[in-house]
Amino acid sequence: MANYFNDNPDLLYYFERGFDWSPLVELTEIGYRTPDGFKDPKEALEFYRDILSVVGQFVAEEVAPHSQQIDREGVRFSNGDTSFGPTMDRIFEGIAQLELHGMCLPRELGGQNCPLAVFLIGSEMFARADISVMTHYSFHGGIAMAMLVYSLLEGTTHFDPETGKIEKTRWMNEIREITSGQAWGAMDITEPNAGSDMAQLRAFAEQDAQGNWFLTGNKIFITSGHGKYHFVIARTEKTANENDPFAGLGGLSMFMVKTYEDLPDGTRKRYATVDRIEEKMGHHGSATCSISFDRSPAELVGKRGDGFKMMLTLMNNARIGVGFESIGLCEAAYRMATAYAADRKSMGKTIDRHEMIADYLDEMRSDIEGIRALAMHSAFENEIAQKEAVILKAGVLRDPHEIEKHTSEQKRRSRTARRLTPLLKYLAAEKAVSMARTAVQIHGGVGYTKEFGAEKLLRDAMVMPIYEGTSQIQSLMVMKDTLTSALKNPQRFARKVAQARWKATASRDSFEKRVAKLQVLSLSAQQHLLTKTAADKVSALRGLPLSEWPDRFLKNWDPKRDFAYAMLHAERLTRLLADEAICELLLEQAKKHPERLPVLERYLERAEPRARYLHDCITSTGQRLLDELAMKNGAEEKEAV
Ligand SMILES: Cc1cc2nc3c(=O)[nH]c(=O)nc-3n(C[C@H](O)[C@H](O)[C@H](O)COP(=O)(O)OP(=O)(O)OC[C@H]3O[C@@H](n4cnc5c(N)ncnc54)[C@H](O)[C@@H]3O)c2cc1C
Repeated sequence: MANYFNDNPDLLYYFERGFDWSPLVELTEIGYRTPDGFKDPKEALEFYRDILSVVGQFVAEEVAPHSQQIDREGVRFSNGDTSFGPTMDRIFEGIAQLELHGMCLPRELGGQNCPLAVFLIGSEMFARADISVMTHYSFHGGIAMAMLVYSLLEGTTHFDPETGKIEKTRWMNEIREITSGQAWGAMDITEPNAGSDMAQLRAFAEQDAQGNWFLTGNKIFITSGHGKYHFVIARTEKTANENDPFAGLGGLSMFMVKTYEDLPDGTRKRYATVDRIEEKMGHHGSATCSISFDRSPAELVGKRGDGFKMMLTLMNNARIGVGFESIGLCEAAYRMATAYAADRKSMGKTIDRHEMIADYLDEMRSDIEGIRALAMHSAFENEIAQKEAVILKAGVLRDPHEIEKHTSEQKRRSRTARRLTPLLKYLAAEKAVSMARTAVQIHGGVGYTKEFGAEKLLRDAMVMPIYEGTSQIQSLMVMKDTLTSALKNPQRFARKVAQARWKATASRDSFEKRVAKLQVLSLSAQQHLLTKTAADKVSALRGLPLSEWPDRFLKNWDPKRDFAYAMLHAERLTRLLADEAICELLLEQAKKHPERLPVLERYLERAEPRARYLHDCITSTGQRLLDELAMKNGAEEKEAV
């Protein structure tokens, strides 16, 4: 029987040995306090293995063979009603029967109480089988989880302080409805004139005399937007002045809008309208909706003005989710290309024996292993941080020292997750596109036809670097965080440089030495960017009293001017940092589990020349283009005056 869990040794490595389940299980089981929960990690892991095996078999047998059919059936839209084809309907009946929608939800809400990591491993397998199925599936349990998290944040979830079980939560009934497969939701952020630039969002919400909220505006590109429960970001603070902080991100609030209700007489009452379903390059089985709200009744979530902050809380999860989704697609591309290359003959041998094709396949394999290491580690750090926050909120900890320990752990893990997540989202999404393209190339002419499905993978992959924050937006985040952290603590940065240099020359372990050399290249590129970026700022400090320097230096950055050089190289730095992070992780694995040494060796062999190239680009190119841009911007500013 085909099974996408059992047939994947790299995935199994993480399940069996590479992933530290114990702390995660302990946090998920609230310190083993609940009477109906697991008593130890062993018991929990047996259950997780069963679930993943069931998912692996289901997607391999019930989803993957129908992927082309899902693509052909697409989504239908008529008279404002959206419906899937019969294949998607049948698959979602199967998912509901297997009770997979509640995988990560607490038992008391009808779920199976698995860690998010189990869902993410499952979603990689779903994506390997079919991206549309994976996407729509994630808008069930994912939205129910969002309901729980938002309720926790705003303080409307109450726990039993002895067991940590949830006694009450704001969207209890809605979560149960989603868990049972009867409903799903959506996350509505994007508008026609506001995608990456969220400060431009214009949908708004207003209150009547009784304090009820009503939301008006148009949201576009909303995945599974024909669902019932929508988290919608809208402006609540009207302002005519662009310099008012409420004109930008600060004026946004988060709302829950129920877009329809099924009445007892069998009719459906609508509170928002799906205007159209986008005709897309790929993801044909996924409904991407344009939605209009016209004084739709809405419930405020959290505090007024906290919408952007609330959205960011779940952004890490969503971006890590796209990381796993992309890996699933990469795995499909790699396996499809490998099977075809082993079969297709050219010039006296199968094409996998031709050097160039063998090199493509080897690189694909090595990249998948590297990105999976980054994905598993990001998922672990992110989930521990979130679960620590839940434990602290649940009130089950009494000892002040224990509370302090959990608080500092939460902060540390959260910082690491914030650093790694954009690296993962960026690299996995970009690799999904390049690997799908390689799979098409390896198939030659049939790659360009629909016969094997390689072209579908490419069409499906193209959106990965666009949604949940484009690759460029990930890179801007990486650049901003990297430079800010070095500027805030130059001593720590200098220590890192010294340590890496020392290891690169003195380490006795040849792999540690090679990884340290890569770190030196990365730090040297960062140093160059810092020096270039700080140069203007430093010259502006001349004449000011020394006491004012730290404040003036760290504050009042003009992102348009001060960071121009760094912005230009943001994507290159992101690639470099992603390779560095992967090599560090693989080195750690190899030290613990010698069978991982070949994985590190393969990855390093390709990462080393790449790092030298990226370092050279960052330190020696770009000034000409920046000068040209500065001239253009200057001319435009003059014209405007
Ligand atoms: C299939 C699909 C599903 C989607 N699902 C959802 C959903 O469920 N909910 C939702 O709210 N949205 C969804 N989106 C929308 C998606 O998140 C946006 O398309 C994305 O954020 C980009 O916004 P945009 O399309 O307005 O592009 P723009 O923001 O206009 O960007 C255009 C280009 O400019 C680049 N760019 C923009 N600003 C900068 C900058 N400062 N520096 C450098 N480059 C920059 C971008 O990276 C991009 O390459 C979906 C989109 C698609 C295609």
